[in-house]
Formats: sequence, C-alpha cells, structure tokens
Amino acid sequence: MTSEDTVVAIATPPGRGGVGVVRLSGERSIEIATRVVRFRKSGLETQRATLGEIVEPARAGGPASGRVLDQVVVTCFRRPHSYTAEDVVEISCHGAPVVLGYVVERCVAEGARAAEPGEFTLRAFLNGRIDLTQAEAIRDLIESRTLYQAQVAAQQMEGSVSSRLKPHKQVLLELIAKLEAGIDFAEDDLPVAGWPEITERLDRISADLEKLVRGYEYGRLVREGLSLAIVGRPNVGKSSLFNRLLDQDRAIVTATPGTTRDLVSETAAIGGLPLRFVDTAGIREARDEAEKIGVAKSLEAIADSSLRLLVVDSSDPWTDEDARLLARVRPLGPLVVARNKSDLPCKLTLEDLESRLAEVVGAERNAPSRQALIVSTSALTGEGIPELKEKILAAAVPARDLGMEGEFITNLRHRQLIQQSLASLAKARRAAAERTHHEMLLLDLYDALHALDTLTGATYADDILGVIFSTFCVGK
Ligand code: GDP
Repeated sequence: MTSEDTVVAIATPPGRGGVGVVRLSGERSIEIATRVVRFRKSGLETQRATLGEIVEPARAGGPASGRVLDQVVVTCFRRPHSYTAEDVVEISCHGAPVVLGYVVERCVAEGARAAEPGEFTLRAFLNGRIDLTQAEAIRDLIESRTLYQAQVAAQQMEGSVSSRLKPHKQVLLELIAKLEAGIDFAEDDLPVAGWPEITERLDRISADLEKLVRGYEYGRLVREGLSLAIVGRPNVGKSSLFNRLLDQDRAIVTATPGTTRDLVSETAAIGGLPLRFVDTAGIREARDEAEKIGVAKSLEAIADSSLRLLVVDSSDPWTDEDARLLARVRPLGPLVVARNKSDLPCKLTLEDLESRLAEVVGAERNAPSRQALIVSTSALTGEGIPELKEKILAAAVPARDLGMEGEFITNLRHRQLIQQSLASLAKARRAAAERTHHEMLLLDLYDALHALDTLTGATYADDILGVIFSTFCVGK
C-alpha cells in the first residue's frame, strides 16, 4: 500500500438501499470523479454538494452521448480536511448494486485502485490524522450493538485512551532525558533525577496503568457482551422470561441467526451491554444418540456462558429435577435464580428456595449472600423483570463500578501492551531500588515507553497494522 495511488470503494453496506456511496481518496480523486460523473453546470465544487449524472459511455455506432444511469450527489473534501487527510470525493448514488459497481469500475478505468479493507482509515492513520487507538475505535463504533458500546467507542475515537496515556509517556520521556543527560554529560555535572524521585514517579505510572488493566475485565464485557444460559425444567417459564428480557429493549435488539437447533439465539441489551441468550433446550436424559449430542452441546454452552439463570416454578413444589439442575449449574460460576410464576398461588416460598440453595451454596467459601441470587418474577405480569435484569448485571459484572469514563480499556491488544509496559516498569523499579547503573535503568524505561508508543501507534510494525486494518470492511 502506498499513499500515492488513489483508491476507490463502495463505502455503504452491500445490498440495495436508498443511497449508496462510492468513496475515492488520494491525489487524483477529484480528477477521476470529474471524468466519471457528468456535471451539469459549473463542474465539481469543493466543500459543497454538487449534483451530477452517471452516464453510460457512448458506444461506437450508438447515440452520440451515452444514456443516463443515475443521478448522483458528489461531495468533495480537500486535503487535509477529510477523513483520510487526502483529497476525498464521495459519490452518493441511489443504492443500486449494479450502478455502484459500475461507478467503481469506471473509477478504476480512470486510474484508481480498489481499496483494501480498512484502507481509508489506514490512510487517516498513516497521514497522522488519527492514532491507532482511534482507528480501532472507529471499527468498534461501526460494530457496536448497543448505544452504550457506541458511546464508549466514540470516546475512544476522540482519543480518550491516548490522552489517558499521554502524561505517563511524558514523564517517562522526561526521566529518560534526564538519565541520558546524566550519562552523556557526566563530567558537566548536570542535575540528574534522584533515586527517590525516579521510584516515586515510576510507582505513580504503574498504579494508574494497573487500574486500566483491572478495568479491562469490564471493558471486555462492554465490547464483547455477555452470554446468559437459561436453565430449568420444562414449563417453568424459561421461554416466557426470555421473551420478557428481550421485550424491554426491543428497539435495540438484533437477531442473530442460530447456529444449531438447540443453542442459539438473540441479543438484547442490559445496562448497555449486549446480552446473548443461550437457549438450552432441555438438558434432560437423552434417549438416543442424536439427543445425547444435543444434550452435550447444551451442557457445553451452559458452561461457556458468562452466567446462568436457573428458572424454577413457584406454583409447584421443589422437585428432584430442580435439585439436580441446581447442583449442575452452581459450580459453573455466577448464577441467578428466578422464582417464576409469582402471580400464581405459591407452593415454593422464598424461604423454602433459600434453604434449597443454601444446601448447595452454603458449602462454598466466600459465597455471596443467598438472597442476592434469587428474584421472584412473573413472566405473565412482568413483575420482577427489572430486578431480574439488575441481578443478572450484578452477577455478571462484579466490577461494574469501574465502568466510569476513561477508567477502562476494551481492547485486548491495549491490555497486552500495557502489561508489557508494566513489566518493564517493574524491572526499572527494581533497578532503581538496587541503585543499578543508569544505563540498565534506561533500557527498562525505553521498553516501558516503547510498549505505550506501540499502543497508540507512534512506533509500529507493519504486520501489526496488517492485523488491525484487515478486520475492517472495505470502504472504511
Ligand atoms: P419453558 O418450557 O420453561 O420454556 O416454559 P414456557 O415459557 O413455555 O411456559 C410454560 C407455560 O407457563 C406457558 O403456558 C406460559 O404461558 C406459562 N407461564 C410462564 N411464565 C409464567 C408466569 O410467570 N405466570 C403464569 N401464570 N404463567 C406463566
């Protein structure tokens, strides 16, 4: 990839729609657009929307000028005031795939190259308009499924991760400069950072970086969402509760096609986090081989979920099957129990259920308070559903109070680099404590700084860029 060539791609999603946009970026984009689009009057104007036409080229022996294929609006952004910081032209056609394909073809015929996935954003990065964390945030924003995810990504797109790291990088740079000066000008008696100052500064940076790493647990949930397995014997109201949980957020629910008959499902949003329901159609005794495979799959999915919801029927006494299911799911991790059908006459009281749970939970050390796990619900009347959501969130995200602005990172790559930086800082801290030679300390400080630089993309390896930008779609 070089920035000299002009690239082109359809920037809107595949398929038909009201509008489809073809985007050009690079030195020749204005010239190419002018050849591909026929403008009525004054030609292509910059920083304005201009009306134009896509015209089929005249054929030999055909009519003198070709036939009109579409009416388009062309927007031109002069460098550096554009997405990529290069000259960018966006041709908004009607969303007809054949027309969009044709416009791209014509641009290529006029000298543009088909863009690679993520190449527009890569160019924005290479041209210094955004840093690496901002580029990653653009991808996260595009992929967001809840408004909260979008909000977090938008903050990072503004540079929240980089600005959080900036003061630390500055301090490391200053320390390095002072130590370098101490070495290079040893005879000139320049002031050199004292040991206590060095260790104190390193500790402060480490403490803050550690906070970010701890926040990743929450950040990962924000980015990837949770999965919830709903377990319970037949007819206790699993599907009804499932629909209730989905219902409340109908507006932001997205359907994801099921992969198999019995695991599957839909995603809702709870507290801004995408919550994927893993439907576990009966983990009953299998009667044949096929059912055995189904049951094994369900069990696997239940174990892999972030947390489990056991549904019991309060209009029925406790059964052996309830006990068996409870014993099965309890050791797997966070568990919420819904005492459903609370609108019907009660045959399983809260106290009763608590003591059943205590038999299993009580044996565990550090067991969270039993009450915290149980919610009385009615899928019929909707009673207890908000509490159920609260409990689900509380059980899945113990560190939810960490979810404050800028206090957490969402990206695994960022966590790895911050940990790398922390390891180097720890080494530097030890070197300082042992009053090691400055050169040794300097090496560690350079390593710590380098990891943070790689995170924001100040120094980077091409293969890292390849990995990051290849996960974008074409046209971004
Ligand atoms: P599943 O087999 O566990 O998925 O149970 P369903 O969700 O299919 O519900 C079984 C039956 O119980 C259906 O007839 C539901 O309408 C009914 N049901 C579910 N939840 C409640 C509830 O909270 N109250 C009452 N009265 N009926 C419910």
